[in-house]
Amino acid sequence: MGKQDYTTKCRGLSLLSGGLDSQLAVCVLREAGANVEAVTFETPFFAADAARKAAAALDVKLHVVDFTDDEIALVKCPPHGFGGAMNPCIDCHATMIRRAGEMMSNLGYEFVATGEVLNQRPMSQNKQSLGVVERSSGLAGRLVRPLCARLLEPTIPELEGRLDRSKLLALSGRRRDPQMELAKHFGLVDYPSPAGGCKLTEKAFGRKLRDLLEHEGLDDRRLVELLNAGRRFRLPDGTGVILGRDAADNRLLAARRAPSETILAPVSVPGPTALIPHIASETDLEAACRIVCSWSKFDAYPGEIAVKIVTDSGTEERIVPRPYLRAPFLQFQLT
Ligand code: SF4
Repeated sequence: MGKQDYTTKCRGLSLLSGGLDSQLAVCVLREAGANVEAVTFETPFFAADAARKAAAALDVKLHVVDFTDDEIALVKCPPHGFGGAMNPCIDCHATMIRRAGEMMSNLGYEFVATGEVLNQRPMSQNKQSLGVVERSSGLAGRLVRPLCARLLEPTIPELEGRLDRSKLLALSGRRRDPQMELAKHFGLVDYPSPAGGCKLTEKAFGRKLRDLLEHEGLDDRRLVELLNAGRRFRLPDGTGVILGRDAADNRLLAARRAPSETILAPVSVPGPTALIPHIASETDLEAACRIVCSWSKFDAYPGEIAVKIVTDSGTEERIVPRPYLRAPFLQFQLT
């Protein structure tokens, strides 16, 4: 793997997800004479861990940008719609490039780069759509795709001789063997699978997100972040229940309760913590207490379970009579 050469003058900012293609882009740009830095984006839907790891291995400076507000705006209203789940990929990708373009202007880079490969995805990475992204990002002539650059029109840094076009690549199509060979050539050994890591592409996560969008909305970032915790139920009177799956979830739900919310937890047996809004109807509160009991370890305990109800105004306990059955509540379970 080539080491960073800080004497080169052409400074570029490369989008780094941590996946193989984005790592290769950094390596190829260095071979073409660029002084590369990297940028990655994070939200409650995807983390920057893989990018941080890759940046450390590549010895490239990484800028981590909080992309949550952008992503939430796109989830609410994606101009080009969703992919197979609630993933607004076309607009998300274009917005990331636009943000990188703003950094280019503000921080003095000469180009932005991505690890895209021509025709790797028939719909979004054909020649026409790569051109659309370039124009709509406002980066015309300054968006470099080092893995397929020689199949595209030369960019300004190439025309000016700031990037050596002969060192850029001409990859096209879905076959991965050329990338595997390049990984060996550059000594890259650690990279996640191409599609992994974004919760928005998961259908089950999409159901929770859609439910939150339609009921509480996405303006409360805390609630968006809590989508990563627990099981979800939507009860008949509209109450959303988040039920901890494990001790870590239980602690998190208790710690992140807002003043307008209620925590439920079994008193006498091990079991999950639940978070519900304070305005829950009596019917929904009763159902939520039953859910807590039904997902508790009640088998080894002969008596009836008391559920602790914690609000801003104090704590009370409610005895929930047996039987504790999950079946009646499965119809309300989202994940
Ligand atoms: S997979 Fe997720 S992060 Fe990637 S473009 Fe799609 S929505 Fe954005």
